[in-house]
Amino acid sequence: MAAYDPENIFAKILRGEIPSTRVYEDDDSLAFMDIMPRSDGHLLVIPKTPCRNLLDATPAQLTAVMATVQKLANAVVRAFDADGVTVQQFNEAAGGQEVFHLHFHVLPRHEGVSMRPPGQMGDFDQIAEHAERIKAALA
Ligand code: AMP
Repeated sequence: MAAYDPENIFAKILRGEIPSTRVYEDDDSLAFMDIMPRSDGHLLVIPKTPCRNLLDATPAQLTAVMATVQKLANAVVRAFDADGVTVQQFNEAAGGQEVFHLHFHVLPRHEGVSMRPPGQMGDFDQIAEHAERIKAALA
C-alpha cells in the first residue's frame, strides 16, 4: 500500500489550508460537510492524525472516529427527521476511495428516497444551511 500523502485534500482541510464547512470536532476527530452531497446532510468524519484508510488505521484512530460517526449519525437523524442513516467507507482506489485520508460518509436517509449519483457539486448556501441544522441538533 502507498504511503500516506500529507498533501491530500483532507490533510489540507485539517491544516486549514483550504476551506470546509465544519460541523463538529474534538481532540481526535473532525466532521465537515461533503461538497458533493448524495443526500441532504451528507457529511464526512475523519481522524485528525494521518492514515490512508481502514487498512492502516490504528485501533485508537478507529475508536475516536467511530464515536464521532455515531454522534453525527444521531445528529443527522434529529436534524433531518431521517428514517435511517447510511455510513459508507472506501479503501484504496479499487475499493472506491478517492481521497486517501481515512473518512466515513454519514448520510441521512428517508424511506423511498434514493441517494443522488456521485460527483455532483452541491449548492454552497444549501450545504451551509444543512450544516447549521446539524450543529443545532448537536447542541
Ligand atoms: P471517497 O474517497 O470515494 O470516499 O470520496 C471522497 C469524498 O470526498 C467525495 O464524497 C467527495 O465529494 C468528497 N470531497 C472531495 N473534496 C472535498 C472537499 N474539499 N470538501 C468536502 N468534501 C470533499
